[in-house]
Amino acid sequence: MFNLVLFGPPGSGKGTQSANIIEKYQLVQLSTGDILRSEVKNETPLGLEAKKFMDQGMLVPDEVVIGMISSKLDENPDVKGFIFDGFPRTVAQAEALDNLLEFKKNPINVVISLLVAEEELKKRLVHRGEVSGRSDDNEEIIMNRIKEYHAKTSPVADYYQSKNKLVEVHGEGTVDEIFAAIATTIDSNL
Ligand code: ADP
Repeated sequence: MFNLVLFGPPGSGKGTQSANIIEKYQLVQLSTGDILRSEVKNETPLGLEAKKFMDQGMLVPDEVVIGMISSKLDENPDVKGFIFDGFPRTVAQAEALDNLLEFKKNPINVVISLLVAEEELKKRLVHRGEVSGRSDDNEEIIMNRIKEYHAKTSPVADYYQSKNKLVEVHGEGTVDEIFAAIATTIDSNL
């Protein structure tokens, strides 16, 4: 099995690159953002609870997303591997993921961290807000999401760095250039 975490701030291109990675390596994508948006759309109890946080650009509580990921792992027992996109977003989530995967004897192989300058991130998110219709892509909420990232998510990079699993990839340039750098990293860790 090959398990990859795609890490980076909001707007760093995780979703775009995940799509490319899945196609080339046949991994199953687990995007907590996508799963949560689908729960919100279907008005499930979990979705209704999560929406309050998402609409403010705040992280959804750890136990909610950890429970969600745990069931998705159970639902996909015989796969080549997973790509985690938008998860883990806190050190507690990273520790929980390690525990879940250790139990299954398939640890995280590599964490790819996409590096993008803050000005570029804001530009991309404002642009996405204009075209995506996502309710959390307006300027004030974007600022909250970036704040949450610095406060709670960036320590996750240190967590994986201390386990020698972090590889940084420059996240600016064309989608193809960035994907080529990601593929090189994956190939050398397969
Ligand atoms: P972005 O494009 O900003 O990286 P996502 O689509 O990954 O955003 O997530 C959108 C929102 O969903 C987040 O702002 C947060 O409220 C919630 N969310 C997604 N993943 C997580 C997670 N792992 N932990 C807590 N909240 C999450």
